[in-house]
Amino acid sequence: MTASIIDGFAVAAELREQVAREAADLKATHGIVPGLAVVLVGEDPASAVYVRNKLKATAECGLKSLEFKLSESATEEEVLALVKRLNADPAVHGILVQLPLPKQIDSDKVLGLIDPDKDVDGFHPVNAGRLSVGLPGFVPCTPRGSQILIDRIMPDLSGKTAVVIGRSNIVGKPMAQLLLQKNATVTIAHSRTKDLPAVCRTADVLVAAVGRPLMVKGDWIKPGAIVIDVGINRIEVDGKGKIVGDVDFDSAKEVAGAITPVPRGVGPMTIACLMLNTLDSARRSAGAA
Ligand code: NDP
Repeated sequence: MTASIIDGFAVAAELREQVAREAADLKATHGIVPGLAVVLVGEDPASAVYVRNKLKATAECGLKSLEFKLSESATEEEVLALVKRLNADPAVHGILVQLPLPKQIDSDKVLGLIDPDKDVDGFHPVNAGRLSVGLPGFVPCTPRGSQILIDRIMPDLSGKTAVVIGRSNIVGKPMAQLLLQKNATVTIAHSRTKDLPAVCRTADVLVAAVGRPLMVKGDWIKPGAIVIDVGINRIEVDGKGKIVGDVDFDSAKEVAGAITPVPRGVGPMTIACLMLNTLDSARRSAGAA
């Protein structure tokens, strides 16, 4: 079997176009332009690239972006004061604080101060709670994007088995919640799981969110399974840098029914879902949700 390749890049482009259309409607009907505030503290080069990509997508979707750059030596008080100001600003519908923050700043404290109704990253404990009890709220962008890709292939997972490798608060746990909402029977695997390959082989839907390059091999995969590779890992091949996922794509595609590539799989969906979450927030604030 050769898997069909799930084109996250194309689906994300469609989603961004949808956001652009719906944002234009919101402006026409309610006079509101969804606003995303992005806070970058320090000089981490990878964070600067992520922020740039997010701001670019925001502009392309016709949303308003506000960028706040603070120096590497910014104090926790300064960052908290900025978040408070953004919470109070009616033109700001989404607040994103780019992680990691410099070590003098307590990330949990900063993320916990963001108004849960502007928490477009979905990292606030209130939104994690809403997701787990099935209330409307913000779902973290990477799991939301992954679920959209799965929905396109298999919208109802009743009777299906899903395995999520990874239990982080930003990917693994919310991913498992979403799969549960779709009626899958869900297992969350992690570094203490015994015989991970055998656990993976039970999965009709396998999501890898680990951060270990090429860990999941073809013979870990149930024939015909949907494989979603969240991992983004930089490795060296023949002296050149290369981005690979957590799944050994070449062997996995011979067994899976459908598989996301890395790059152009989950990554673009994450940014598209940030746009979607910002639009949702603006709609809710306008009573147009
Ligand atoms: P974390 O490091 O927070 O979590 C990794 C998880 O993998 C942990 O639960 C850990 O288990 C588990 N794990 C580590 N090693 C093993 C192993 N050998 N066997 C089984 N489980 C293992 O990572 P994130 O969730 O933040 O990110 C995961 C990956 O996804 C990374 O590559 C990251 O770059 C990528 N990512 C991609 C995004 C995208 O847009 N595509 C967005 C966010 C992340 P334990 O809890 O026991 O330590």
